[in-house]
Amino acid sequence: MVIISSQYLPVKSTDFLVIGSGVAGLRAAIELSRHGKVLVLTKDEATAGSTGFAQGGIAVVLSDEDEITFHFDDTIRAGAGLCDEEAVRVLVEEGPERILELISWGTEFDREGTKLAFTQEAAHSKRRIVHAQGDSTGKEVERSLLFYVRTLKDVQKLDFHYTIDLIIQDGVCLGVYLLDEEGKKISAVTAKATILATGGSGFLYQQTSNPPVSTGDGMAMAYRAGADLVDMEFVQFHPTTLYLPGAPFFLLSEAMRGEGARLLNIYGQEFTHKYHPEKDLAPRDIVSRAIVSEMVETHSLHVYLDLTHLNPDFIRKRFPRICSTCLSYGIDVTRHRIPVSPAAHYMMGGIRTDLNGATNIPGLYAAGEAACTGVHGANRLASNSLLEGVVFGARAGSAAAHYSRKIKKLPERVLNPFLEKPVAGEDQIAEVDEVRGILRKLLWDRVGIIRCGKSLSEAMAMLQEWKPFMERIYRHRKGLELQNMITVATLITQAALMRKESVGAHYRTDCPHKSETGPRHIVLRKS
Ligand SMILES: Cc1cc2nc3c(=O)[nH]c(=O)nc-3n(C[C@H](O)[C@H](O)[C@H](O)COP(=O)(O)OP(=O)(O)OC[C@H]3O[C@@H](n4cnc5c(N)ncnc54)[C@H](O)[C@@H]3O)c2cc1C
Repeated sequence: MVIISSQYLPVKSTDFLVIGSGVAGLRAAIELSRHGKVLVLTKDEATAGSTGFAQGGIAVVLSDEDEITFHFDDTIRAGAGLCDEEAVRVLVEEGPERILELISWGTEFDREGTKLAFTQEAAHSKRRIVHAQGDSTGKEVERSLLFYVRTLKDVQKLDFHYTIDLIIQDGVCLGVYLLDEEGKKISAVTAKATILATGGSGFLYQQTSNPPVSTGDGMAMAYRAGADLVDMEFVQFHPTTLYLPGAPFFLLSEAMRGEGARLLNIYGQEFTHKYHPEKDLAPRDIVSRAIVSEMVETHSLHVYLDLTHLNPDFIRKRFPRICSTCLSYGIDVTRHRIPVSPAAHYMMGGIRTDLNGATNIPGLYAAGEAACTGVHGANRLASNSLLEGVVFGARAGSAAAHYSRKIKKLPERVLNPFLEKPVAGEDQIAEVDEVRGILRKLLWDRVGIIRCGKSLSEAMAMLQEWKPFMERIYRHRKGLELQNMITVATLITQAALMRKESVGAHYRTDCPHKSETGPRHIVLRKS
């Protein structure tokens, strides 16, 4: 039974709340543990976020041949003129220290002899990507951070606890409302500062590399609370996910092209040279659109990624996880071409923060993919995201700790804000599933890699029809997630309609060029 009938909710309190146990949340929690009690909440298993799925690696200037300015320039170039230069400088300058720190906490990156091994990825001018177990970098980062966090006595972690909303009193964030899925209880947790590290929103799209937890919850709850959301039109589509009817979408890392894999159309012809001088290693948005155009031209649902000309032993050693996953579907990547198509991968926009993760709401911080610091501009450079998680996770933790000194007292009683809302019945679960499916297809078809004013307006009209879903309180995670999905889908569509130009990952056929007078950033705040 969900407790919804009493006027006040059961309350627990802590010094700091971190929502999310991916790279950004865990790094923030480590920082906060030096300043007080930390509670890390996550709605699923601790490892269910995108972090554990990251393959290619982390971009960082640690090789003798590389320089901070090269990484800076590559990031700015990929961002299509919309990066915040100050944020990029922080990312590339603080990155090396954060990665060495990870190593000191037990993260085992691959090595050549005693030295770190670096690989190449698209749009990087140097080999600067560190990786782990070949193509399981995120898994290793998540493992080592979780292991380290477990040694910290002031950090408590609660898995399978769904954060519904933020507690805002007099414009200040003082914690969260929580649904404990096992007990089916709604309660409140108060805290001096709260960090949203809830990851991205790729699961709003039918075709995605993201895990099911990536439903944009943090962005939606921040928006409801009055936070600014920015750059929501910039959704990155990864060029290469495994395309097999019936199989789940599985990412085929960019590092494969970095190591020499080629993109071929269904007739076995190379095609990316028609779209960009850097061919297969052009920025992600360009390669994704090139693939879509080629699929249209050849009337096919996929293209191929071809590694058959590369050394099989090297491929098996370098990409063990990809090789074994493909083999489980009958594809030996050393002998067969892999059918691939693009999929939604990363949200460049998010909750607007300053360089320390602070939002416009006192007491509320954000880090990782949920946040928008401005480092990615209109298009993220490959492998800059895990780096962003550690750099800005640490900064957000430090700033939240500093801010918390101002808070002398937390509320002892928290009013139940859900009393007035109609409760959705268990019989509405099937309806929730159905609408989630329709929404994901709608976004893929109408707000996807290639958009236009008409497709966006159609999507917006459909999203408006789902307003009644927003009025209810759901007793289960899927229904609550659906509400967030509708909110974030609406924000993406609204921003995409407002940006009447094509730039970075946002491409509109009705305005296919970058405009001299286009807005630098589109900021959305609940009126
Ligand atoms: C397949 C794949 C490959 C990738 N490869 C790379 C790569 O090689 N290099 C790179 O830099 N980046 C890569 N990325 C991107 C990168 O992995 C992510 O951007 C990054 O890990 C995000 O970290 P995060 O901590 O912000 O969020 P996540 O790791 O997604 O964690 C979010 C956390 O928030 C929790 N959560 C969400 N909503 C709620 C809620 N309502 N209540 C409680 N908890 C909640 C989730 O359960 C989860 O614990 C890849 C992404 C994918 C999907």
